[in-house]
Amino acid sequence: MNLVFLGPPGAGKGTQAKRLAQELGLVHISTGDILREAVKNQTPLGKKAKEYMDRGELVPDELIIALIEEVMPPGGGVIFDGFPRTIAQAQALDRMLEKKGMKVDRVVLFDVPDDVVVERLSGRRVCPNCGAVYHIKFNPPKNDEICDRCGTKLVQRDDDREEVVRNRLEVYRKQTEPLIEYYERKGILIRLDASKDIEDVYQELKKVVST
Ligand code: ADP
Ligand code: AMP
Repeated sequence: MNLVFLGPPGAGKGTQAKRLAQELGLVHISTGDILREAVKNQTPLGKKAKEYMDRGELVPDELIIALIEEVMPPGGGVIFDGFPRTIAQAQALDRMLEKKGMKVDRVVLFDVPDDVVVERLSGRRVCPNCGAVYHIKFNPPKNDEICDRCGTKLVQRDDDREEVVRNRLEVYRKQTEPLIEYYERKGILIRLDASKDIEDVYQELKKVVST
């Protein structure tokens, strides 16, 4: 089974993808996580991607498609989180899977109003060491600003600052929202009310991917 998680930044895709991938034995591929790691390690990809990410713009399609080709497991079984983000990326993914006799089976659209997204992004804190994601109000660590898993001090992502958030939402509307229709036409889009709390969303998500 190959799943795509679609929705605005801050909708909760990564939070749910990590848990569902573990429970269903799927591979979680987050292009955002891979790119942040590449930036941290100053790899050639990271150096090219950084300026786009800092501005809240999309990294060019060629770079993202090459990256997905590199990390795609031969047998599939993937939750794609934050990919595809453009029609060109979606078409490339379809071609890539088709060559291996696979397809995107379901696309889950994380539906949340803008004010919820802004509140989630402004309170998001991440562990710079192990990548765990928290929220100061909705999913706080046990000890103030310290990662439960590895004890590192949590940080705010640079692109979660208000000016960048506004641009990311605009980029989502313009470049990524057309994917809703793209997948609706294929009859594989499922809308999920992602405005509820983390546990409720997870239970609902499990239902929609198993039916
Ligand atoms: P995305 O991967 O879609 O950008 P994240 O999974 O990183 O979003 O979630 C964004 C922020 O919102 C994080 O701080 C996360 O802890 C928090 N969050 C995720 N899901 C929910 C939810 N259902 N209710 C409240 N906060 C949530
Ligand atoms: P995310 O962690 O999904 O919010 O992504 C963080 C940033 O990484 C985005 O604002 C983009 O700059 C970049 N990015 C992640 N995934 C993609 C993608 N599929 N296409 C283009 N840029 C991406």
